[in-house]
Amino acid sequence: MKKIVVATGNKDKVREISAMLTDYQVISQKEAGFFGDIVEDGATFYENALIKAKTVSMALGVDALADDSGISVDALNGEPGIYSARYSEEGTNEKNNEKLLKNLEGVKNRKAKFCCALVLYKTTGEIISAYGETEGEILLKEEGHNGFGYDPIFYSYDLQKSLGIASDEEKNTISHRARALKNLLEKLK
Ligand code: IMP
Repeated sequence: MKKIVVATGNKDKVREISAMLTDYQVISQKEAGFFGDIVEDGATFYENALIKAKTVSMALGVDALADDSGISVDALNGEPGIYSARYSEEGTNEKNNEKLLKNLEGVKNRKAKFCCALVLYKTTGEIISAYGETEGEILLKEEGHNGFGYDPIFYSYDLQKSLGIASDEEKNTISHRARALKNLLEKLK
């Protein structure tokens, strides 16, 4: 089985990517021996994914796949976007969700989308990238505890329910990450 190193410290992302990349043995950057901190100072999801994939690939001498993702809310001019992980001061899922719900208090237009940029950086220097998104609305309060991050406050138009209620399998049929992976796999064929 082909091995692929995923350049992330987020175990939820590794879990989702492993479940979808069934033809590959998915290895996290830690398992592959990378323990460094990466400064994500890109201006876009793509730039941040490239920074992560390139750093891990060059440090370990392997092909590395990175995901940079987040949620963009229409009424907040696309925020938190690339700053999704650190939206609140604490940067925890709970506080991030709390802040987003607070910033949308009394707001009627709650349309939002999850976005995901994937970059595969090869030892040859070749870059293969893909993008995916999934649309929905920010709920008035958390519904369910499944998934991670903003999932419990995101109502998916495709699934017609909160991603906090959806199973991993359901989420993986419509998620921004699943769509980006599908695009990437098509490019790798
Ligand atoms: P990154 O690690 O810099 O790409 O940050 C991604 C952040 O966006 C995560 O910490 C979550 O807050 C959010 N996010 C990305 N993908 C998802 C998802 O599938 N569900 C819920 N939140 C997500």
